[in-house]
Amino acid sequence: MFTVLIVDDNPINLKTLILTLQNDGYQLHSAQSGKDALALIPQINPDIILLDVRMPIMSGFEVCKKLKESEATANIPIIFLSALDEDVNKVQGLSIGGNDYITKPFSPEEVSARIHVHLMLHAKQKELESLRRQDQQYFEQINAIRDGILDQMRHDVKSPLASIKASAYLIKQRTRDYADAHITEYVERINCAVDETLQMLEHLLELAKLETGRSTHAQLIKLDPFIKNVVFAYRTLAETKGIQFLTAFQIQPDINAYFDPDQIQSVIGNLLSNAIKYTAPNGKISLKVYLANGAIHIEVADTGRGIPKDSLPKIFDRLYRVPMDGEQVEGTGLGLYIVKTIIEQHGGTIQVQSELHKGSTFLVAIPHRQIAEV
Ligand code: ADP
Repeated sequence: MFTVLIVDDNPINLKTLILTLQNDGYQLHSAQSGKDALALIPQINPDIILLDVRMPIMSGFEVCKKLKESEATANIPIIFLSALDEDVNKVQGLSIGGNDYITKPFSPEEVSARIHVHLMLHAKQKELESLRRQDQQYFEQINAIRDGILDQMRHDVKSPLASIKASAYLIKQRTRDYADAHITEYVERINCAVDETLQMLEHLLELAKLETGRSTHAQLIKLDPFIKNVVFAYRTLAETKGIQFLTAFQIQPDINAYFDPDQIQSVIGNLLSNAIKYTAPNGKISLKVYLANGAIHIEVADTGRGIPKDSLPKIFDRLYRVPMDGEQVEGTGLGLYIVKTIIEQHGGTIQVQSELHKGSTFLVAIPHRQIAEV
């Protein structure tokens, strides 16, 4: 049964409305002032309120504003009551959240019909809202299941690959004394193939998450140790290839930032591994991280092969790879697409400057948020 609250300072008006509605099957309550109404509402939880505009001390508009301020009462439909000869600004009433007006003297049929329509509308709105919440819950459950499957896949494929790499390393150790160049070369090939497969796997899993609407899971992260930790593995990789790796971290140790750590790790990792991949031994790469103009700036530069001018607008496209004449470098054409998608999800930007045979610089800026965005 619907609960209807009638608020009017005039007892005769109240009585008339109660008589009008008494046979419509509602639970009726009344209040003779705005203050009494506000005290009564939390107790009776009305489905609709008929609210006189002109009342002493607190007008109907003021009561309406108070109700709209609280989440618990903001959605209760309000029908204002005003006398025909009163100078009432109806537009103001609707703009502060009123749903309708009834002008006194009123026809009983009209009052009944309007209340019925607003109650039905409100019920449908509630139904829609609950369906939307349900959909959202299903969506989140499906996302969690999918993320679980992808993580399991990553683990199931990574483990055997790690064991292949470990075995290759042992073969290399065991055969070191024979100095057989063939064996060394075969082991190197196994290592490269495993690394490429791992990168492809990482890219495909990351892409699956990004393209099926995985939301960013932002957390408050201490920036300086986070960056240093991410960079650690790439320093070894660069040095193994004979590339000098320079870093400049201009971040105070206690600075926090709000972002998705897995995704930003993937951004820095992809940019650094590209810089290493596309730079010949004896070259240089550098990583600079600093805060300026409310943004975290991450700059990855290299002295590598560079990117031709006509390819520059396409390098962030899905699956795009610059055609290569000389030495072939393996890749998926997905890394920069993933990087750009993640940065955009964080509200940031990425730019590239490059000169053929001289090198490239990737410039990332992401808003430096220190609290969760509402
Ligand atoms: P890939 O797996 O092929 O490296 P990416 O999406 O990471 O895919 O990069 C797209 C293309 O952009 C690469 O194929 C490469 O031609 C070019 N590229 C990316 N980073 C660099 C770089 N640091 N130096 C030169 N070329 C680069």
